[in-house]
Amino acid sequence: MTTRPLCCLNGRVLSLEEARIDPLDRGFLFGDALYDVVRVVERRILRLDSHLARLRGGLERVDIDAPTSLDDDCRQLVTASQLETGYLYLQVSRGVAPRAHEPPANITPTVLILAVAHAFAAPASRAMRAISRQDYRWEHCDLKTTSLLATVMGKIDMRDAGVDEVLFVGAGGQVREGGSSNLFVRQGDVLKTHPADGRILEGVTRGILMTLAEQSGLPCSETPPLLEERDDWQEAFLCGTLTGVQPLVELDGEPIADRVVGPWTQRLAEALETGNAESS
Ligand code: PLP
Repeated sequence: MTTRPLCCLNGRVLSLEEARIDPLDRGFLFGDALYDVVRVVERRILRLDSHLARLRGGLERVDIDAPTSLDDDCRQLVTASQLETGYLYLQVSRGVAPRAHEPPANITPTVLILAVAHAFAAPASRAMRAISRQDYRWEHCDLKTTSLLATVMGKIDMRDAGVDEVLFVGAGGQVREGGSSNLFVRQGDVLKTHPADGRILEGVTRGILMTLAEQSGLPCSETPPLLEERDDWQEAFLCGTLTGVQPLVELDGEPIADRVVGPWTQRLAEALETGNAESS
């Protein structure tokens, strides 16, 4: 069945042609907005609670009133749009007000949800190549803000290099995360991923994989993988709601682990997929 191009704007299901955002919306003018993305498989919204918890937590931190209707709005949109497989993009901006940096006290947030059809790559099926860039983003990468210009700049470099992801790297060579994914690296019997210290987005997928790895007997350490140790990376993979788990086989034109898809990449990719089939 074809997905109908619908969205849900402030609780109303509308066609994309009908939906209109006010030019004074602070999301448009300032990027004063947070977002989240949830996967939909066979009309089931996966791990909606975890994504909404992250979104609500972020909104509280930036002092935007979290709408209470998000859960219902998502379900309403999946039904109306007949979305089978793809994702929902949810965005909550602070709302509409005369343009001034400081927001007025009483302002009603704008809530936009898009239903997007998307075919996901099979687990561990896509050999991904990346470039690294100095991390020129800010110190609140744990907030999933729509102010993504720094990420867009990295993604332009990625596109021009003809690769699949940009990895942001700290001044000490700590490989933090991808432009839209988290990174895991196996060194010996330890799986490393950057700590959730504000320098990365604490991915929902990252959290699930850390638990799955521990349960399967591979200890996980929130230690930044280091660029200078890349020859010791025995496998590396990227993860995210849209990415799933995919092997990272090349960085800055050099192979990682001889471009071989590692056993833990494969195992965790499959375990995540099994979890997807069971989750609601
Ligand atoms: N890191 C960044 C910067 C992201 O944009 C994303 C997802 O879009 C992720 C990590 C992965 O997060 P999640 O697993 O919650 O999708």
